[in-house]
Amino acid sequence: MEYVYFEGKFVPEEEAKISIKTNSFHYGTAIFEGIRAYYDKETDKMFALFFKEHYERLFKNMKVLNMQIEESIEDLVEITKELIRKNNVKSDIYIRPIVYFADTAIGPKLLDYTAKIAIYLYPLGDYIDIDKGTKAIVSSWTRLHDNMIPPRLKVAGAYVNSALAKTEAIQAGADEAIVLNKNGFVSEGSAENIFIVRDGTLITPPVSDDILEGITRWAVIQIAKDKGYPVVERSISRTELYIADEVFFCGTGAQVSPVVEIDKRVIGNGKPGPITKDIQKTYFDAVRGKIEKYKHWVEEI
Ligand code: PMP
Repeated sequence: MEYVYFEGKFVPEEEAKISIKTNSFHYGTAIFEGIRAYYDKETDKMFALFFKEHYERLFKNMKVLNMQIEESIEDLVEITKELIRKNNVKSDIYIRPIVYFADTAIGPKLLDYTAKIAIYLYPLGDYIDIDKGTKAIVSSWTRLHDNMIPPRLKVAGAYVNSALAKTEAIQAGADEAIVLNKNGFVSEGSAENIFIVRDGTLITPPVSDDILEGITRWAVIQIAKDKGYPVVERSISRTELYIADEVFFCGTGAQVSPVVEIDKRVIGNGKPGPITKDIQKTYFDAVRGKIEKYKHWVEEI
């Protein structure tokens, strides 16, 4: 991936450098996104997934941190498509836009600084397993709260919490962490939302339970409803995870990823469940533009 978008221009990656004094680097105030574009071998086409929705979330996040940039949402959608064309991409990729206060002044605040955006691409297959199922632990780290560092924001500093939880999971021999919020309810994984299935109903924590308002979460809810599965957004207790029929993570990176073990308890029969697999299959077809009903989720590049 030779080219990146950096502070208003397409440049070779080695020319996109920021100062060690960059304000957001010190105080964790950079806002980022994680977007995917999929390559479909059969049609030899690239499909942009939810570009507009991701940039809309970026702008909402920027609003909270008092950030303004020169580019509009529409500009960023076009710039990202152009970046993919310039790099002549023919594979599944992850797109990372990041907005940061580029000033070199010292001091954590959200005023009087100038925000800039950089965007780069990298090839990404599966971020976590999507076939045989992942093993998770419930982390001993508590999820951030909206009045601390808002989990609703994809803000760099919030990912210290994710990194602590994910590291704990790996060191415990698991793949992923599930993090409880300050009230003791399930919030989400380290970088993905979570669903459980009980008696054919999908249950996921509400947006008021200290989660990132995931775009894949939204897409999963649409798919589930269209298939006739009831979906309930309500708080989930820790032990409800253990007794659920099925559990899965979802996210742009994670896609739809079954969870087959939590805290050494086998979930269901220890294999990805039928509803998870049903939703996963539809999701993978949708992101490659193969389902008419969800064609508006993707844009051919
Ligand atoms: N929660 C967290 C903490 C995340 O980092 C992500 C990845 N962006 C998600 C959930 C899933 O969000 P989305 O479906 O929008 O990628």
